[in-house]
Amino acid sequence: MTIYNFSAGPAVLPRDVLLQVQAEMINWHGSGMSVMEMSHRGKEFMGIAAEAEADLRELMGVPVHYKVLFLQGGASSQFAMVPMNLLRGKTGADYLNTGEWSKKAIKEAKRYGAVNVVATSEDKHFSYAPTQDQWKLDPDAAYVHYTPNETIGGVEIFWTPETGSVPLVADMSSTILSRPIDVSKFGVIYAGAQKNIGPAGLTIVIVREDLIGQTVPGTPTMFDYKIHADNESMYNTPATFSLYTAGLVFKWLKARGGLAAMENTNREKANLLYDALDATDFYSSPVAKENRSLMNVPFTLKDAALDEAFLKGAKELGLIQLKGHRSVGGMRASIYNAMPVEGVRALVDYMGEFEKSHG
Ligand SMILES: *Cc1c(COP(=O)(O)O)cnc(C)c1O
Repeated sequence: MTIYNFSAGPAVLPRDVLLQVQAEMINWHGSGMSVMEMSHRGKEFMGIAAEAEADLRELMGVPVHYKVLFLQGGASSQFAMVPMNLLRGKTGADYLNTGEWSKKAIKEAKRYGAVNVVATSEDKHFSYAPTQDQWKLDPDAAYVHYTPNETIGGVEIFWTPETGSVPLVADMSSTILSRPIDVSKFGVIYAGAQKNIGPAGLTIVIVREDLIGQTVPGTPTMFDYKIHADNESMYNTPATFSLYTAGLVFKWLKARGGLAAMENTNREKANLLYDALDATDFYSSPVAKENRSLMNVPFTLKDAALDEAFLKGAKELGLIQLKGHRSVGGMRASIYNAMPVEGVRALVDYMGEFEKSHG
């Protein structure tokens, strides 16, 4: 039986990448070692890291005046690193509040400065994203932070905010590499790897060079972008195996035609699922149509008493990790790059069958 894993993260990886990792596990390219056993400063691993960076730059079109950092600590560490590095003597920053991850970023930023919440969708249980005409931006803000894809709520923002000369910062943990973006519109982009990049343990930060080097006093060495930029992400030991695997994912994405091609496939998958949700009132999506995430699709059954039966039947068919986040309940299907169209078709077919037998 083919298993389709709909986990929100750590999430499904491309099968071809896993097979390559397996083939290279014991003896990477004749080195006699696994990548896990290599010195991060040896020429083998330095080559792996350089190639991963070059491929990521090519995929995303990262301009030369941006640094790509391979860090650890997850997106959650960036909730602190962003204010520590970007406040640059200013008193506060602007934050958009569209859900659980925005709230966590806001809470952490408050430890370092004043937070101006430019807009919030809390009034409607974070089921939409306020458009920019509803934002109250502070022209003196050090930066504007937002979460283009709320992984738990399934709310995605498909337009790029206009913030003039104020740097735009995005937590792209669950949307990075799902579609092309214009990196030059951002001051900082960060993402934990375990959603749409690779194994947990790696955190990617893309930062415009002029924003580096003005940390708040007392910033720990490991939280300073400049330290990592000056040391090519090798100030300390990076998450070597995760970075190697992410590098293979980048090659897999390039071989499939890059991010424009991924966007087409991702839209096809998301449309299949949202069309199925819209076709019946047995299922429903809580998210406003214009903000329906391409990557994370929460949905509910009309009768929550059927949730357990739905999950059990799904699992019997190899459709796993569909249970919604503990804070919202219901179901959530995460359909990242590595989820094949066939997996979404299998889910939609099962939903139809389940409705017939329980509707
Ligand atoms: C998963 C996630 C996080 C937390 O990531 P960690 O790597 O576990 O710290 C933060 N923001 C978003 C949008 C996420 O999806």
